[in-house]
Amino acid sequence: MQIDAVKIPSLIKFNKLIHGISPRFYLTEDQSKAELNLNPKANDWRRDNLWKDFLRPLGAHQHEPFFLNQVHGDQIYCIDEISQPHIGGVFMGDAIISSVPNQNIAIFTADCLPVIIYDTYLNIVGVIHAGRKGTSLIIVGKTIRKMVEKYGSDPKNIVVGFGPGVGGCCYEVDYECLEPFRDFYSPINRFTIAKENKKYMLDLKIANHLNALDEGILKENIFDCDICTVCNNDLFFSHRKMDAGRTMTVAMLLP
Ligand SMILES: [Zn+2]
Repeated sequence: MQIDAVKIPSLIKFNKLIHGISPRFYLTEDQSKAELNLNPKANDWRRDNLWKDFLRPLGAHQHEPFFLNQVHGDQIYCIDEISQPHIGGVFMGDAIISSVPNQNIAIFTADCLPVIIYDTYLNIVGVIHAGRKGTSLIIVGKTIRKMVEKYGSDPKNIVVGFGPGVGGCCYEVDYECLEPFRDFYSPINRFTIAKENKKYMLDLKIANHLNALDEGILKENIFDCDICTVCNNDLFFSHRKMDAGRTMTVAMLLP
């Protein structure tokens, strides 16, 4: 089989960081196309070991990645505080930080924004599930702050990469959905567009970009792979297109 992980181009150059985003389809031994559903809540997650087939070409397959029971909140876990980091799906939360080499960490998305943050100087990585609710709770900013407060990271050394998620082109929401953004993001017309039908187009990538800038991340250190999962539903799972499958975003440090 052949599984080609998608990369955030600007993160490839960091040789102590492994990262990859799972594509929707892969080629089986007989060259037919099969779906790569890496939803850990699916029954076949452990039986099929597809996650291992995805991680092997990346060199991050030695054990199951640590992941969370994602709940669209702002809870952050640091791997060095967890006694059994090989058992995933137990803790409720939406961001993981690792300072531990060879420990793979993963989040799962379908339209929500997967975010990788990396301290290039201290070699510390984080993966974040930033959907509408997590973004309104500034989960990216809070994860950056955790790196700064716990590990002494300097925001100037942190790079932020956005993976594939629903774009501002395809995310129509009601006015009420924007209320939670007013606490941290005013004015919200920086990442929303009012439509004639009284609804709004919401751009989560711009919102998270603004959040990262607010935390002191340099503009030139914020990278977007610029893929909308709804427009590119042939390449990635999309919740808005009613897909049950999930995309895995994985990161692992090398010593
Ligand atoms: Zn789109």
